[in-house]
Amino acid sequence: MAAQLTETRVQEDILVFSLGGDTMPTSYGANAVAVIGERAIMLVDPLIAPAHGRLIETALRRHTDAPVRYVVFTHHHTDHSLGAAVFEDRGAALIAHRACRDRMAEEHPALIASRQAQPGLAELFADARPAMPSITFDDGLVLHVGGVEVEIWHPGWAHTPGDAFLFVPNARVAICGDLLFARYHYNYEHASLPGVREGLRALRALDADVFIPGHGAPGGLDLLDAQTAYHDAVAAIVADAMEAGRDDEAAAAAIREHFPDHRLGIVLPTTVTRLREHLGRRGGR
Ligand SMILES: [Zn+2]
Repeated sequence: MAAQLTETRVQEDILVFSLGGDTMPTSYGANAVAVIGERAIMLVDPLIAPAHGRLIETALRRHTDAPVRYVVFTHHHTDHSLGAAVFEDRGAALIAHRACRDRMAEEHPALIASRQAQPGLAELFADARPAMPSITFDDGLVLHVGGVEVEIWHPGWAHTPGDAFLFVPNARVAICGDLLFARYHYNYEHASLPGVREGLRALRALDADVFIPGHGAPGGLDLLDAQTAYHDAVAAIVADAMEAGRDDEAAAAAIREHFPDHRLGIVLPTTVTRLREHLGRRGGR
């Protein structure tokens, strides 16, 4: 069954696209975001495969003939990036933090090859290739997308070493990447645990009304509160499990029980491993 791209308009010229769900064929529910300016579009995180990039392209054409001039990556994970090849082919400039580009160069060729070798995934990734940023930044950048000013910020190593989040001041919209998940379990695989808290503080400091998460529905400041509470709860659950001598599976089950409506349970074994390492280094709680 073909996945359905949903479109949410969060402001006049800002659209959020997602395939929902929480598996690879739907980009793990990641959000791609389009900022539409005069004769120019900036696209953030165009999903996991060229086929998904083409779905976004078709959806955009219902609104405007303007070309996608810029693609910005919030981090190197493939569910936010491999769809960019479609827009690179049409002449878009690909933009990311320098460390994001480095991790793409290191990880993407092997990830693509392994997916192309798996019968269930080969079709989706048949025409996938690394889509490497041609412009990188260290601290930040301001883009002018057909008259719309867009700030790009690096919050330090939070979700990944090469994180970026974006802010559209006139629209008061923040595009958060995976600094923020909404009703999806947080993916700590490449995260700095203190860094994810810093990242949320950076988002809170923005003058934004709307926060678009990397995964899940956009919302207000309450999404930041919920993400902070999530980090607290998961750390407490894993600390309790360590104290009680329970195994990783039991800790993962306890997290799942605490957040019964959250998607992306597939990340929980990694969550427990990463939290256990982190808490162990701190010498328990
Ligand atoms: Zn993601």
